[in-house]
Amino acid sequence: MDTRTPHPSLPAKPRAFGFFVDGAWVKTGGRDTLDRISPAHDIPVTTIALCTKADVDHAVKVAREAFEDRRWSGQAAADRAAVLLRAAQGIRARVDELALLETLETGKPISQSRGEVEGAAGIYEYAAGAARMLHGETFNNLGDKMLGLVTREPIGVVGLITPWNFPFFILAERVPFILAAGCTIVCKPSEFTSSTTLLMAEILAEAGLPAGVFNVVTGLGAEVGQAITEHPDIDMASFTGSTATGRRAVQASAGNFKKLGLELGGKNPQIVFADADLEDAADGVIFSMCFNAGQCCVGGSRLVVERSIAGTFEKLVTAKLAKVRVGDPLNPDTQVGAMVTPEHNAKVLGYIENGRKAGARLVAGGGKAGSPAGNFVQPTLFADVTTDMAIAREEIFGPVLGIIPFETEEEAIAIANNVDYGLAASIWTKNLDKAVNVMRRVRAGRTWINCTITGGPEMPIGGFKQSGWGRETGIYGVEEYTQIKSCHIELGQRAPWIS
Ligand code: NAD
Repeated sequence: MDTRTPHPSLPAKPRAFGFFVDGAWVKTGGRDTLDRISPAHDIPVTTIALCTKADVDHAVKVAREAFEDRRWSGQAAADRAAVLLRAAQGIRARVDELALLETLETGKPISQSRGEVEGAAGIYEYAAGAARMLHGETFNNLGDKMLGLVTREPIGVVGLITPWNFPFFILAERVPFILAAGCTIVCKPSEFTSSTTLLMAEILAEAGLPAGVFNVVTGLGAEVGQAITEHPDIDMASFTGSTATGRRAVQASAGNFKKLGLELGGKNPQIVFADADLEDAADGVIFSMCFNAGQCCVGGSRLVVERSIAGTFEKLVTAKLAKVRVGDPLNPDTQVGAMVTPEHNAKVLGYIENGRKAGARLVAGGGKAGSPAGNFVQPTLFADVTTDMAIAREEIFGPVLGIIPFETEEEAIAIANNVDYGLAASIWTKNLDKAVNVMRRVRAGRTWINCTITGGPEMPIGGFKQSGWGRETGIYGVEEYTQIKSCHIELGQRAPWIS
């Protein structure tokens, strides 16, 4: 018997959303609206409000009041944890609805959306525990007359800006940690994928989060996002998106020197040594390049492979690549769905053309895939790629991989590090000494040995170099949203200054 979830259907008309401030939905009113067109089906699926700078100002005022009156930060961590645990239950109760919206707006396979929504619930549960782990330090070594306390306090009002590639999952890698720290939030999701973030606000409110603690304003990056990064009354902005926009966020944040968390782009190497389990490595490399149609910040986009096996490995990857199922993301069997927009689709196809012109040898894919409707790219493999080519240096953000051969371990490390980014790297070898040496020397925030794009909320995520600042998730992800305060306590009589 087929026990899989039935093939969900397309909505008859787009679902319209207001936005969420001070614990309640706000109607779109006279604001302009934006329809989201499903990138896999070319039909409108959702409609959002285009909020204005005035809407951001109001949401920040609400979040500031909610922070200052301590309605959230003043609660015991156990009580904050209880809200996060109920929110996890709220997510689980709405998996079908959230996953369908996620697929309609992003174009990602429905099976993947379900996995991400269920995974997100688990992250809220982890963060509930992390809320109760947060603590400071004491210095009991300052002499008998002095005790030192180091306390952590929530940093304040956080502006949270998220991208379109993992709208609900990336939100889950930020929101419960920020809430665990005791902060309040003004969030702006990507204009392409706002609906599940809006529903999360409703789920949190139903879970007992006090009004005003999590607010969502929707709209365009240049207006709403920019207003958040510039805002003088936001204490920290957490930005996840492209390196170019991240640079703008750095400039905008200078007005009030707000702290910034930046999770930016990557150009991640898959380093394959001759002594790897090549079948396993080929499967992992393909998963890494194709996952989310290559629109994954930590996805593998450079295949750095030992020259002695480069030919064999190329054949192995090509054979496996032919079996990857690209198509309608609503089909539960689909592995690779649509690219997020026609513009992005064209950009990825442009990079493929660029690779051809630069002299790389096209081994697999190389063009559009799927039906006339929608935006699909064939998983594409290039060989004979050199480190100076654009396809070897720039973030393509599509299912495109280039093979760069190496001779020695030193050369593999040098190639891996020879880009502006430092987000992630995977190393495939059965030699543990070699694996650990390469892992230590590769300049990337997330590394995997004999696996790729895996892990849970216990471990920190973030980038080196132009891939970002700071870390999310794990206990680090809660600490990131705190300020440290020191306090000296004098015991007994203080030695007088004036005799
Ligand atoms: P993007 O930079 O275009 O947009 C990200 C967010 O910033 C969106 O909400 C957008 O509306 C907003 N924005 C746009 N202009 C802005 C401005 N001037 N000021 C403030 N906000 C503004 O990125 P994207 O295309 O949505 O996402 C893809 C990028 O995100 C890729 O580069 C990818 O590598 C990166 N990413 C990184 C991570 C990570 O953890 N490092 C995770 C996911 C995605």
